[in-house]
Amino acid sequence: MSDAAQYSVRDGIAVITLNNPPVNGLGHALRSGIMQALQQAGADPGVKAIVLIGSAKAFSGGADIREFNTPKSAMPPSLHQIIEAQDASAKPIVAAIGGFAMGGGLELALGCHYRVAAPKAQLALPEVKLGILPGAGGTQRLPRVIPVAEALKMMTTGNPIPAEKGKQLGLVDEIVAGDLLEGALTYAIRLVAEGKGPRRIRDLKARPEGDAKAFFEAARAEVAKASKGYPAPLEIVACVEAAVNLPFDEGQKEERRRFEQLVNTAESKALRHMFFAERQTTKIPDVPEDTPVREIRKAAIVGAGTMGGGIAMSFANAGIPVTVIEAKQEALERGLATIRKNYANTVSKGRLKQEDMDKRMALIGSSLKLEDAKDADIVVEAVFERMDVKQEIFRKLDGIAKTGAILATNTSTLDVDQIAATTRRPQDVIGTHFFSPANVMRLLEIVRGAKTAKDVLATTLKLGKTLKKVPVVSGVCDGFIGNRMLEKYVQQAMFLLDEGATPQQVDGALTRWGLAMGPFTMSDMAGNDIGWEVRKRRYQERPHMVYSRIADRICEQGRFGQKTGTGFYLYEPGNRKPSPDPEVDKILAAYRKEIGVTPRSIPDAEIVERCMYALANEGARILEEGIALRASDIDMVYLTGYGYPPYRGGPMFYADTVGVANVLAAIEKFQKGYQGAQWKPAPLLAKRAREGKTFN
Ligand code: NAD
Repeated sequence: MSDAAQYSVRDGIAVITLNNPPVNGLGHALRSGIMQALQQAGADPGVKAIVLIGSAKAFSGGADIREFNTPKSAMPPSLHQIIEAQDASAKPIVAAIGGFAMGGGLELALGCHYRVAAPKAQLALPEVKLGILPGAGGTQRLPRVIPVAEALKMMTTGNPIPAEKGKQLGLVDEIVAGDLLEGALTYAIRLVAEGKGPRRIRDLKARPEGDAKAFFEAARAEVAKASKGYPAPLEIVACVEAAVNLPFDEGQKEERRRFEQLVNTAESKALRHMFFAERQTTKIPDVPEDTPVREIRKAAIVGAGTMGGGIAMSFANAGIPVTVIEAKQEALERGLATIRKNYANTVSKGRLKQEDMDKRMALIGSSLKLEDAKDADIVVEAVFERMDVKQEIFRKLDGIAKTGAILATNTSTLDVDQIAATTRRPQDVIGTHFFSPANVMRLLEIVRGAKTAKDVLATTLKLGKTLKKVPVVSGVCDGFIGNRMLEKYVQQAMFLLDEGATPQQVDGALTRWGLAMGPFTMSDMAGNDIGWEVRKRRYQERPHMVYSRIADRICEQGRFGQKTGTGFYLYEPGNRKPSPDPEVDKILAAYRKEIGVTPRSIPDAEIVERCMYALANEGARILEEGIALRASDIDMVYLTGYGYPPYRGGPMFYADTVGVANVLAAIEKFQKGYQGAQWKPAPLLAKRAREGKTFN
C-alpha cells in the first residue's frame, strides 16, 4: 500500500490515516491508498467500523494542486469512485475532521456515514472561488444533510463554517474536544455497540422550507445579483434544485454536466489563472526560496500623510511596532488623528473590537526626530514625491539607521536607484510601493533596485506576506508595472473624450465590462491635481508623449474631483456619488472645437478595446524589458491594485483570451484612427501574435 494512506486496526475499528503533507491534497497516491485501505477494511471480518482521519492541521484540502494539469490528476481511482466505495461499504465509516476539510476534502467527508470534528475545524466547499462547483457529489449531498438554504450559502460564497456551526446544521455529528482519534474511535465503538450501520447521505431527502419553486426563484434572483459576471453560483443553484427534485443519481449526472461546462468557461479559466498567479509572485528566479531573511521586529515610517498613515496601520495590524516620524507637529497630529478615525470607523461598523483597536494604536509610536528611526529593522519613507526631498531623507537615514536595516521608499514614480545612490548602502535600499488606502489595498509592488541585495528582496517579500499583501516584484522604471500601464490606459480614455465620448459613457462601458471603477470616477476620487502634477513634469521630461489636454482644462477650472465637489463629475455636498455635469459637456465641446474635432458616437465595444488593449500593449513592453518577471505578475498587479475583475484574469490573460493576434489586428486598426501615431504594437505582442502564442 502507498505511504500516502496508512492502515491500522484498533479495537475492531480500522483507522485510515491520510498522510500527504502539507494539506492531504487528494493526489493519485493518496486516492489509491484510501481505496486500498477501504477494500482491506471491508474484507477483514475483525473490522466492524472504519475511521478516516487526516492530520491535526488538515483532514484534506481537496484536489492536490501539485497535480493540476498532469495525467496523474485523472488517473483512477477518482474521488468519485472512492465515494462510491464508501457508499457501498457495509461497515459504517466515520470521518474525523481536524484542521479543515475543504472542497474535495469535504466531499470525501460527505461520502462517510458520520462526521466528528475538532472544535476548531473549518468546513468549506470553496470551488466557486475558482469558477467551478463541487464536482464529486458535494452539490447533491450537502443539501441532504444541512438545510438547503445553508447549503446554497456555503457553496455560492465558498466561505468556511466552523465545526460548531456544522454541528448545529447537522453536518457534524459530534465535536471532539480532546484527542481527535481517541474521540473518533470511541464514537465508532459506540456506533457498533448500538448496532448502527452505514447512514448514507445519498438516501436522505433534500427539502427547502416552504414551496420549492418559489424558494429557488428567490435564490436565483439573489445569487444573480450578488455574482454579476460569474456563472458558477447560478449553476450551483441549479444543481441544488436538482438535488431537491431528482433522484440522487440523476442529480449527480446534472452536477457532472454543469461542472464540465463550467471548467471550460473563460471565467473559470481566468479565476484558476489568478489562483496560480498569486502563488507565483514570490518566486524569483535568482533568489531561491531558502534565501536567509533578516528579521523585522520594528518599523519606522517617515511621513504621516495619506500613505504613511495607512502603511503604519498595515504594520500595526500585523502586530509589528512602528514609529511614525513627521517633520511638523501639526502634520504628525493630523496623521495620528486620521489613523485613529479610520480604526474607530471600523470599530463602529462592528468589524474590529475596541480592545483590538487599542492594541493596534498602542503599537504606533510617533516622533518628530528622524533619529528615532535608529532601532527600526525597516524604515519606509512616504514623504512628498520629490527627488530632492527623498534623497535628503535617505542621506540622513544612512547616518541614522542601524546596520542591516532595510531602507524602503514608497515612491510611485521616482528612480529608486537614484535614491539608493545617496546612501553608502544601496544594497539595503528597495522600493515598497503601497496602494491607497494602504491599510486596505492588497497590492504591494516591490521595486528591486540595481543594487538591492537578494536577502533584502527576500525579506521584503516575506514582510509583504506578513502584512497580508500580495507582493509583486517590479524593476525600476517610471510608474513601475501598474502606473506605467495605467498611463496608456488613461491616455486612451482622454482621447475618447476628445472624439465625442462623455466621462459617464467611458466609465459606464468599462464598469459594465467588469472594472470596479472607470478612469474618470477614479481620477475624481484620487484628485485630478495629482495626475496634473505628473503631466506637467512629463511635458518637460517626455515632450514626445502626446496627451489630450482635456484633463488640464478640467484642472484649470479648479475641478480636482471629490475633494472640490467638481471634477469630471459633479458631487453633491457630503455625497461621493458622481453625477454627470452639464458644465463638463461645455468644457468638452469647447475643447473639441479648439482642436478641430467633430464629435462622433463611439460604441462601448471600442471603448473597452482601446482601454484594455492599451494596458496589454504596455504590459507586453514591461514584460519584454524584464520589468515584470512574468505575465501573471502583471495580471496580479491589476487584480489586486486596480479593481480588475478576477473573472477576466488580468490584462495579459484577457489578451490571451481574446487572442493576441486579434489584439494586434485591433491595434493596427487604431493606428489608422484618432491619435493613431500613439499606438505602436509592442514587439513582444507582435511576436506572440505571429507565433500564435499567448503571454501566460
Ligand atoms: P502626503 O502629502 O499625504 O504626505 C506626505 C507627508 O510627508 C506629509 O504629511 C508631510 O508633512 C510629510 N513630510 C514631508 N517632508 C518630510 C520630512 N522631511 N520628514 C518627515 N515627514 C515629511 O503624500 P502621500 O499621498 O502620502 O504620498 C507619499 C508618498 O507615497 C509619495 O512618494 C507618493 O508618490 C507615494 N504614493 C502615493 C499614493 C497615493 O495614492 N497618495 C499611492 C502610492 C504611492
